Amino acid sequence: MTYDIQPTASHFIDGQYVEDKNGTPIPVICPVSEEQVAIVYEATPAIVEQALTAAKRAQGAWEAMTGTERGRVLRRAAEIMRERNYDLSVLETNDTGKPLQETLVADATSAADALEYFGGLAGSLTGEHIQLGDDFVYTRREALGVCVGIGAWNYPTQIAAWKAAPALACGNAMVFKPSEQTPLCALKVAEILHEAGAPAGIYNVIQGMGDVGAALVTDPRVDKVSLTGSVPTGRKVYAAAAEGIRHVTMELGGKSPIVIFDDADLEDAVGGAILGNFYSSGQVCSNGTRVFVQSGIKEAFLKRLSERLKDVKMGDPLDESVNFGPMVSGRQMEIVQGFIAKGIEQGARLVTGGQREGDKGYFLQPTVFADVTDDMVIATDEIFGPVLSVLDFDDEDDVLKRANATDFGLAAGVFTNDLKRAHRMVAGFEAGTTYINTYNLAPVEAPFGGSKLSGVGRENSKAAIEHYSQLKSVYVGMAPVEAPF
Ligand code: NDP
Repeated sequence: MTYDIQPTASHFIDGQYVEDKNGTPIPVICPVSEEQVAIVYEATPAIVEQALTAAKRAQGAWEAMTGTERGRVLRRAAEIMRERNYDLSVLETNDTGKPLQETLVADATSAADALEYFGGLAGSLTGEHIQLGDDFVYTRREALGVCVGIGAWNYPTQIAAWKAAPALACGNAMVFKPSEQTPLCALKVAEILHEAGAPAGIYNVIQGMGDVGAALVTDPRVDKVSLTGSVPTGRKVYAAAAEGIRHVTMELGGKSPIVIFDDADLEDAVGGAILGNFYSSGQVCSNGTRVFVQSGIKEAFLKRLSERLKDVKMGDPLDESVNFGPMVSGRQMEIVQGFIAKGIEQGARLVTGGQREGDKGYFLQPTVFADVTDDMVIATDEIFGPVLSVLDFDDEDDVLKRANATDFGLAAGVFTNDLKRAHRMVAGFEAGTTYINTYNLAPVEAPFGGSKLSGVGRENSKAAIEHYSQLKSVYVGMAPVEAPF
C-alpha cells in the first residue's frame, strides 16, 4: 500500500492550509506496512486561537445568508465529493487501513449523503407562528454560533461530514479536531467545502491529541460540542462543556445486543451478525457484539457463520477483492488481543479465529466465541475489534432483560419472522438505534444515536437540526399593555 498522502499542511483554517511545525509531531502510521506514511503537527495554542478567531468572525455573515444559499454550498460540496470518491476512498483506506471495497461505498459517499441531505433541508428551516388572540408569538430558528466537532478514528471522513453538514446548514461555524490516529480525511472535507463556496472560516480543521480537544471545549467562544468517541472521553468532554452550559451531542461507545430467535431466516441472521461484528474489522460503535442465539438455531447459526467467514480475504486493502482490513493501530490490536485472551481464560469456547494474521500489519482474524456468559469481560466491555460473542437463551422475556442489562444503549437488533414479537422486542430495547431483521445500516434520513451511557442527542435526519439550532420566542403585543400599577 503505497500512495503519497502527505497533506499540504497540518491544519485548514480560514479557508487555507496552515502549518506550524512548533507543534508536537503526529506521525501517520500505515496499519498494513507499519511504516510512517505522513506527518502532521499538533495544533499549538496559536493555531487553536487562529481557528477559533476565524470561526467566530465568519459565523455571523454565514448565518445571515438564506438557508437556500447555504444549502447550495453543501450540495455542491456533496457533488465534488462524489466526483472524487475514488481518491477520497484511497486516502481513507491509507489513513485507517479499511479495505477500499468498503471505503468506496461507506465513507466519502456517506459524507456526501449528509451534505446533500442537510443542503436540501437548509432552505426549509423555520420557526413557527402561535396566535394568542390578537397577540401572537413567532419563533426564530437561530444558529448556536461556533461549534466544536471532535472525531474518532474509525470513520474519519464520515464523522467530519456528519457534524459539518447539520452545523453549517443551520448557520453555525465549526472547528473540527480529528482523531490523532486518522488526521488526514477531515482536511479534505474542509478543502471541498471551501471549494464549493463556503466562506473562509466556516469550517476549520486542526490536529491534536485530547488536550487540543480539551482546549477547544472550554473556550468561551464555543457554543456547542459534538463528540464521537468513547464513554470515558465523553464523560470528560461533557463535564468540561457543562462549565459553560454548552450544548452537546455525545456519540459514544456501545455493547449492543443482536437477538436471534429460532424462527429467524438463518442467512439473514448470519449476515446481520457479520455486518454487526466484522465490517471495518469490528471497529464500529454500533456493533452488535453480544449475539444472543436461541437454542434451537444455535448450532446451525455457528456452522453457517463459520462457513461464511471462510470468505474473509485479508491483504492489501487497496486490492478491491480484499474484504477485511487490519486494526487501525498496533495499540488497538493489542487491546483486542487482550480481550481475546481474557475470553479464553474465562472459559468461552473459541469457535474460530483468535490469532494475529501474519507478522506485518495489524491484522487480526475474525473471532467467534460461543458459550459466552453475561458476566464474562468479552460480554460486558466494548472491544472495538472483530470479536463476536454468542450467548445462549430460550425465553423472550429473559433475553430482553439480559440484552438491556448493560450501561450502554447505542443499538440493538432482533431477527425473527414473528411480526408481533419483533415489534415487542424493539419497544423493549433500551437503545437509541434499533433494527428488525437487518443490522448496522445508518442512512442519513434516520436519526442515529444512543441512550444511557452511549450518548446524548441524535445525528442525521431532521432530529439533528434540533441539536444545531435554538429557538428564540418573540412575543408581539397588539393590545394596550395592562399593568397592575
Ligand atoms: P476516544 O474517546 O479515545 O477519542 C475520541 C476523540 O476525542 C479523539 O479525537 C480524541 O483525541 C479526543 N479526546 C480525547 N480526550 C479528550 C479530551 N479530554 N477532551 C477533548 N477531546 C478528547 O475514542 P477513539 O478515537 O478511540 O474511538 C473509539 C470510540 O469511539 C469507541 O468507544 C466507539 O464506540 C466510539 N464511537 C462512537 C460512535 C458513535 O457514533 N456513537 C461512532 C464511532 C466511534 P485523540 O484521539 O487525538 O486522543
